[in-house]
Amino acid sequence: MCLCAIIVSIMERLISGTSRLGLNLSAEQFDQFEVYYRELIDWNTRMNLTAITGYENVQVNHFLDALTVTPVWQERENCDRPRVIDVGTGGGIPGVPLRIAFPVMRLVLLESTAKKAAFLHHLCGQLGLDEVETVVGRAEEIAHRKQYREGFDLVLSRAVAPLPTLVELTLPFCSVGGFFIGHKRGDIDTELEQATAAISTLGGELREVRAVDLPEFPDHRCLVIIEKVSPTPEKYPRRPGIPAKRPLHS
Ligand code: SAM
Repeated sequence: MCLCAIIVSIMERLISGTSRLGLNLSAEQFDQFEVYYRELIDWNTRMNLTAITGYENVQVNHFLDALTVTPVWQERENCDRPRVIDVGTGGGIPGVPLRIAFPVMRLVLLESTAKKAAFLHHLCGQLGLDEVETVVGRAEEIAHRKQYREGFDLVLSRAVAPLPTLVELTLPFCSVGGFFIGHKRGDIDTELEQATAAISTLGGELREVRAVDLPEFPDHRCLVIIEKVSPTPEKYPRRPGIPAKRPLHS
């Protein structure tokens, strides 16, 4: 049996999920996911990267969950080499699975914890991913650096903060005409309502809340899609900790 067949037969949950998403990944890409799984579990014994460690669970709740952005992104992408940033990426979710699936992406992984960033740096080396930059720092500070501010076509973030805080941490990275896509779960009506003024203040417009319609996720997951329609005022994001402490509520 060739190596490809072995790999394809292993990542069954990811294979069935990605095909439902209309994604046709190669044996080499599944091989990269296999390496990702092994590295994540190995480093997780020495640091707190994830509470999800089971082989099937990681395939579904990390890798496939990250890739649910795919249909939305494919509908909206309008450039050959999109610049993408994952804010508060932790162990690389959702940025790394998307970069494995879409090698054309130029990806920045932003993480405030240096140890996690060291893992990401190691991981990208093991996966042979080029044009992936790991940045250690807080979004509140990094978003004021010229080379990152409004420099991305797509801004991603999962499990970092409630929406009123999250939009302040993410929209300043988004170029005008670009999009923020945030993974959320459960009833987010209140969060959305509370984020309305912040989205507008930061130069965004809510385009859609798209339900993730896959049998793997019966727990009401959705993607919040915000388009950047005007520049973010210079004063945002505010100092580290302030967006969480005093969110820009409606
Ligand atoms: N996005 C990953 C996921 O879904 O598995 C990690 C989620 S984890 C709950 C949140 C991560 O965001 C942590 O690794 C934390 O260090 C990072 N983080 C929190 N606030 C941040 C900030 N202001 N700037 C950069 N990273 C931040």
